[in-house]
Amino acid sequence: MTLPESILIIGAGQAGGCAAAALRREGYEGRITLAGIEPHRPYERPPLSKAVLHDAGAEETLFLHKPDFHDSLKMDWRPGAEVRSLDVAARCARTASGETLAFDRCLLATGGRARLLPGLPPDAPNVHYLRGLDDARRLRRRLQPGASVIVIGGGFLGLEFAGMARGQGVALTVCEAGPQLLGRAAPPQVGAWLQRCHEEAGTRVLCNAMTRSVAPGADGVTVALDSGEILHADFLLASVGQLPNVELAQEAGLAVDNGIVVDARCETSAPGIFAAGDCASHRSRFLQRHVRLESWQNAQEQAQVAARGMLDLPASYDVLPWFWSDQLEMNIQMLGMPDAGLDYRMRGRESDRKFSVYGFADDRLRYVLAVNSGAEMTPLRRLIAAGAVVDANRLTDADLPVRETVKLALA
Ligand SMILES: Cc1cc2nc3c(=O)[nH]c(=O)nc-3n(C[C@H](O)[C@H](O)[C@H](O)COP(=O)(O)OP(=O)(O)OC[C@H]3O[C@@H](n4cnc5c(N)ncnc54)[C@H](O)[C@@H]3O)c2cc1C
Repeated sequence: MTLPESILIIGAGQAGGCAAAALRREGYEGRITLAGIEPHRPYERPPLSKAVLHDAGAEETLFLHKPDFHDSLKMDWRPGAEVRSLDVAARCARTASGETLAFDRCLLATGGRARLLPGLPPDAPNVHYLRGLDDARRLRRRLQPGASVIVIGGGFLGLEFAGMARGQGVALTVCEAGPQLLGRAAPPQVGAWLQRCHEEAGTRVLCNAMTRSVAPGADGVTVALDSGEILHADFLLASVGQLPNVELAQEAGLAVDNGIVVDARCETSAPGIFAAGDCASHRSRFLQRHVRLESWQNAQEQAQVAARGMLDLPASYDVLPWFWSDQLEMNIQMLGMPDAGLDYRMRGRESDRKFSVYGFADDRLRYVLAVNSGAEMTPLRRLIAAGAVVDANRLTDADLPVRETVKLALA
């Protein structure tokens, strides 16, 4: 086996930074070039919609590597370097400043970007998006007691922001175009329950609230809804999903289908070019389809598989999707995806703010959403991964320990 002399990582976010560390951990001593648009060392994004919104000190916890460890990786780190093109045959990439970066192997870890509101320039006054550290810093400055905010989009990110902003004494209206919160991300009963929690916290939540127009101005922002209602606030957070950064791969001729298509080793359709994190789409054994996941776990673990793949070490990405969200002082964790056709059963009571919703198919557990019940996740992960038949009545009986029921099912 010949080790590559040089590896180029495009994108210095969570997956990029994690892959660089994994390459060194695996003993790779060749050149690693880490090129990223942002000026920051690789960092994790989850705290941006949580503690960082109210506490500048929380920024300390974001970075993947402390400065000493970052230096010890001995990378050719290129902050502020946007890669504009990738030449697969010539094994090189070109940056916006015209530099050529040669490589033997390459990892695309370009993540995603916030979907912009249609018809508005990206820098419209009083309209914010939340994807990076600089976005979170701008929002933190605006979250002053007495301020008013409209959040467009009732997904996890918008709701985490709403929960945090309410805690700062900000007046909030959340506008969700669909009939319920978390429409694509959670079973219907969870959306309705979470709406009640946010309303109890003092947030106005509007579902079926389709935005007709957004008019930003010097004194705030005005939103007209299809219902005819006009809303005005000091500023707006648009949280209407993200788009994967796949254009570089697409223009280089790589297979792209929602995300950059990768195999189990995270290699793309072009030999020697790998992809990981929010930009990559892999086939999931658990979901029986290709998925592009936008989660901390996926960025972390896929990057490590890609690192091994680039070194021709045995590697296979085979992970049950896991995601968490913190809002209104509650911890919500999910395993699997709320795919169509699941039979949902509840364990515990919503009113206790400690319950789980389980999704079953063919007498097997396929999906879990657990509120303030994180301790259940380890046995349930084993149960789903094993694909074992389980007694749903027993598993959803809150008086019986989950661990025992899982043990029985796996025996
Ligand atoms: C606000 C927020 C909160 C979140 N909260 C949670 C949570 O609670 N739980 C959870 O599981 N997940 C959460 N996530 C998701 C998780 O953070 C992402 O899935 C993860 O960051 C993806 O990592 P990545 O490396 O693929 O992409 P990113 O971390 O986005 O990194 C991609 C990097 O590539 C750079 N880049 C893009 N194109 C180029 C180019 N052409 N040249 C050079 N550089 C380029 C970008 O500037 C960026 O720095 C959250 C995400 C956000 C934004």
